[in-house]
Amino acid sequence: MDQIDAVRTPASWVVVGLDNGGTCNNATVLDATGQFLVDSLVENPSLVTEGPESAVEQLAEAFTSILELTSTPRTLVRAVGLDTPGPASADGVISSKGSTNFSQVSWHGFDIRGALQARIGLPVVYNNDANAAALYAHHRHFGAEAMERSSVAAIVGTGLGGGVVELGKVVSGAAGMAGELGHVQIPLHGVLEEDQPVPECNCGFAGDVESIASLTGIAKNLLPYWLRRFPDHPLAGEPISRAAKLLRGYGEKEDPLAVAVFEQQAKAIGKLFTIAANFTDPAAYFLGGGVVEAAPHFRQWFLNTVREHTQLRAEQQAAATFVLVPDLDMAGARGAAVAALETVRPVG
Ligand SMILES: [Zn+2]
Repeated sequence: MDQIDAVRTPASWVVVGLDNGGTCNNATVLDATGQFLVDSLVENPSLVTEGPESAVEQLAEAFTSILELTSTPRTLVRAVGLDTPGPASADGVISSKGSTNFSQVSWHGFDIRGALQARIGLPVVYNNDANAAALYAHHRHFGAEAMERSSVAAIVGTGLGGGVVELGKVVSGAAGMAGELGHVQIPLHGVLEEDQPVPECNCGFAGDVESIASLTGIAKNLLPYWLRRFPDHPLAGEPISRAAKLLRGYGEKEDPLAVAVFEQQAKAIGKLFTIAANFTDPAAYFLGGGVVEAAPHFRQWFLNTVREHTQLRAEQQAAATFVLVPDLDMAGARGAAVAALETVRPVG
């Protein structure tokens, strides 16, 4: 267990949130009054590369440890929320093709939710990690009004994750694939330069949001184009994946190449939010990911640029807000816990 700043003991029954990542699990406890019992990351190794058996055991270990840490008797736990990277079905069956984190063949089509439920003997509620983060952003922002509001979240990382929340609940879809906002294709007019090739996404689509607004999109599409226009730029001498990671630092210093790239990203997210405005007309548009950890003036500029390129009607402008999502490293575990709490609350 990592060093942690503050730990409380439960005032009531609780749910546990478990966030499963490529290297670590992160765990939290949420009590029935809506209070999180830990204020920082509590991690253990996820061992996902060793296959399902080891990984489920590590999740069970994370569950036991977080109860010990918060002095929570197991009898107080009503449910466990679990999130993992996708793609997976709405009830936690990993894609039959596997995925980046679950590449071993034994993971393909593996029911991680069911396996954890069988292992710990408590109901387990599943969400993919982007949906869990979206749910946490929603509940944190709206508080007591969460169940009456709707929101859309775009989280810029290696890919572009996201989620759609309607009346406080994640829209998961028939196959569990709702809210895959990164793979929504957007109008490129006004986003790309005249001589810029249409960006391609790893999913096979051309011109979707992730092909532009993600670290992968920077390395694969945006940076190669912009470096041709700025051949003397210091990043021209770096391997492209390293250059992509360094770009944010240049953006914070208002480097023209970096500003051009991030402006294209912000415009792409604005186009996505314009589509969202016409689909679910949400009360809040959340923006999270690496850009939120950037210097305040830079992240505010990025958010403002997204807002400028989201075309809302006057009525929508009056009703909606644009918000940066903080605490993203804990958002998965916390969102998973919120989902579990919503599942069991009616009987409380
Ligand atoms: Zn895509």
